[in-house]
Amino acid sequence: MPAPNCIFCSIIAGEIPCTKVYEDEHTLAFNDINPKARVHVLVVPKTCFDRLHESDESHTQLLGQLLIAVGKVAALTDITRSGYRVQFNQGKGAGQEVFHLHAHVMGK
Ligand code: 5GP
Repeated sequence: MPAPNCIFCSIIAGEIPCTKVYEDEHTLAFNDINPKARVHVLVVPKTCFDRLHESDESHTQLLGQLLIAVGKVAALTDITRSGYRVQFNQGKGAGQEVFHLHAHVMGK
């Protein structure tokens, strides 16, 4: 069941379409609808979780899988040689709009 009002949960549930880049049991990666770089992919855990500063050891697997998926997305989108940025916006003050943890993977 997607969390109410969480757009990324709706994408994970297939209720909102996306351009999928990578998927495994624990993560989904799809193109950002409003890209700020030639490659701009969002990598999200399938479990709705938001705040890094509230994470603890129980989130070790989730966060590890997310970062592994980030690396796979970088390889799949061919940005490993040009270099890429990985950004987590945390909180409205940092520009966060969607409150479901996600990594922005951005490369040329
Ligand atoms: P935030 O500002 O929360 O770190 O980033 C949220 C990102 O989600 C933004 O870059 C925005 O363009 C993207 N986004 C918002 N709604 C959708 C959507 O429905 N589909 C896709 N693919 N991206 C979205």
